[in-house]
Amino acid sequence: TERTLVLVKPDGVRRGLIGEIIRRIEAKGYRIAEAHLRTADRDVLTHHYEEHKGKPFYEPLVSFMSSGPLMALVVEGNRVIEGFRSLAGTTDPTTAAPGTIRGDLARDWGLPVAQNLVHGSDSPQSAQREIALWFPHIHQG
Ligand code: ATP
Repeated sequence: TERTLVLVKPDGVRRGLIGEIIRRIEAKGYRIAEAHLRTADRDVLTHHYEEHKGKPFYEPLVSFMSSGPLMALVVEGNRVIEGFRSLAGTTDPTTAAPGTIRGDLARDWGLPVAQNLVHGSDSPQSAQREIALWFPHIHQG
């Protein structure tokens, strides 16, 4: 069974949406396998977002992501990588489809980085890399 790394970003924690987001993940039928709530240090975030280094939203993104506690989750289920990205909706919350986490619960606040509540790994390779980064003590089969 597949695993993905989900982050409830600091905007989701600040807005009191951890429960609502986990509810949607569980209601879909996926299983929460691991969870922790903490403020991420910039070291983890620079590794997590290394593909975006140099982009205009990179610095605001790292600052935003370290601005308060976030909830890191390992979520499990067949095709969960694809399934969670479908639950989350597209990156831009303004146009994310209603019915999705971003479409229902997020919007544009006029800030340099999109505050779109959640992150989900985009491939098996990123899932493995990101789970190892956020949950270094976990054995990955
Ligand atoms: P995530 O990786 O967080 O699941 P994603 O895959 O939809 O989101 P990425 O392209 O990996 O998006 O970008 C990472 C994050 O950077 C986005 O979730 C968003 O918060 C921010 N971001 C991406 N593109 C832009 C942009 N053009 N303008 C503002 N913020 C952006």
